[in-house]
Amino acid sequence: MSGWQGRSVCVAGLGVSGRAAARVLAERGARVTVVEARDDDALREHAERLRADAGATVRLGDGDTLPEGADLVVTSPGWRPDAPLLSAAAAAGIEIIGEVELAWRLAHDGGADGAADGGAAPWLALTGTNGKTTTVRMLACMLTAAGHRAVAVGNVGTPIVEAVLDKHDVLAVELSSYQLHWSSTVAPYAAAVLNVAPDHIDWHGSFDAYAAAKGRIYAPGTVAIVNADDPVSARLGGPGAKGFTLGTPAPGQLGVVEDLLVDRAFTPDPRREAVELAELRDVRPFAPHNVANALAAAALARAFGVPPEAVREGLRAFTPDPHRIAHVATVDGVDYIDDSKATNPHAAAASLASCRSAVWIAGGLLKGADVDDLVRSCADRLRGVVLLGADRARIAEALARHAPDVPVVDVPDTDTGAMDRVVSAAAGLARPGDTVLLAPAGASFDMFASYGARGEAFAAAVRRLAEGR
Ligand code: ADP
Repeated sequence: MSGWQGRSVCVAGLGVSGRAAARVLAERGARVTVVEARDDDALREHAERLRADAGATVRLGDGDTLPEGADLVVTSPGWRPDAPLLSAAAAAGIEIIGEVELAWRLAHDGGADGAADGGAAPWLALTGTNGKTTTVRMLACMLTAAGHRAVAVGNVGTPIVEAVLDKHDVLAVELSSYQLHWSSTVAPYAAAVLNVAPDHIDWHGSFDAYAAAKGRIYAPGTVAIVNADDPVSARLGGPGAKGFTLGTPAPGQLGVVEDLLVDRAFTPDPRREAVELAELRDVRPFAPHNVANALAAAALARAFGVPPEAVREGLRAFTPDPHRIAHVATVDGVDYIDDSKATNPHAAAASLASCRSAVWIAGGLLKGADVDDLVRSCADRLRGVVLLGADRARIAEALARHAPDVPVVDVPDTDTGAMDRVVSAAAGLARPGDTVLLAPAGASFDMFASYGARGEAFAAAVRRLAEGR
């Protein structure tokens, strides 16, 4: 009998992962109540379907009250730990887990207590402030090239609770700090923290708490892989960790030698030989931070026994997701690049570091993040800056402090024509050989439905500029 039979589970949040969790739990005989603070037509439709197919109780428009009799809460990433329902559960001693922990428990014994049975597909897991989606997809390509039945799961698309119930040899799992916060028994076969920079501080309460959540990816027995170039990642992995670096690798590390990615960690004799994995030009789009992503993916793959040829083949088969350093057009000798997914200062800094001379398009919602370090790090490669969106004054102030000679155009407009004015201002500042880079450093919700919509608006404006030439 499944350990879920008769348990009374509250699922907090009717999003993609909440719906998937509710279904899986109901199939295993749990009594499920889904609670959701919002209430609209789309949610009502989802609620109706869950009631009909899974027999779940669904409550819309009240996310605060803990359902009577609940003995476990499965929460969604959008819910802060101090949400009233979660605080009430914690005060009453009711266990709170996330979808990832639920998936782990389902895969390992089908039961409710997290005891392992050894028959489930191992997880190669990664987290980090930036680069997760790219890296997890590179990893899935490498695993597939090695002949494994593998899939990329987590934030990238398929909810983990669904993926663990399918037939796979191994899972490439992207984990966010939110998911890790609510995981307690998850024990990946190998795990990597790509980088840790300030983000989501409101949710976690402090940078240390955010970093600690990321560090939970390393369980006892996990092959720990760290970014040797990132001090926080390096610290989180502990003394026995393997590493990756953009420099020449020491024994126990993967790294770069001339134009090659090499492995000195997962080889028969890392002190003597470096095994060649791929050429730098196999990394696309080419940018230093993407080389770091490729090395992290390669480290996880190699920890799992993937041969060097499959690392290279996987990198070559990888197709980047849209709005991540995507080349839109070259107009009058100027490259226009869409990195709308650079939604925090750390991502924008990485993207600017890959340009020699840039006209930087920045702005949006900074979510309280500090931009001084970012502006300092890129000041000497800025031809000019065009600012748009809600927090543009904060970036303007940092520019005045650290790059007072760089010309700045402020576009206060928020109408649908704003991006045309932004692109035309950028074209006015750029010279042949420059890059016009949309790497906003902020979230898009002040003006656009998503980072994708912001990138599309940019690309459309660039195409109109090209047609007008
Ligand atoms: P995530 O899933 O963590 O958001 P993505 O792979 O979608 O990561 O990349 C998001 C953005 O982060 C990219 O558009 C790029 O600007 C930046 N980025 C990607 N990899 C790195 C890295 N290793 N270090 C710093 N920034 C990165």
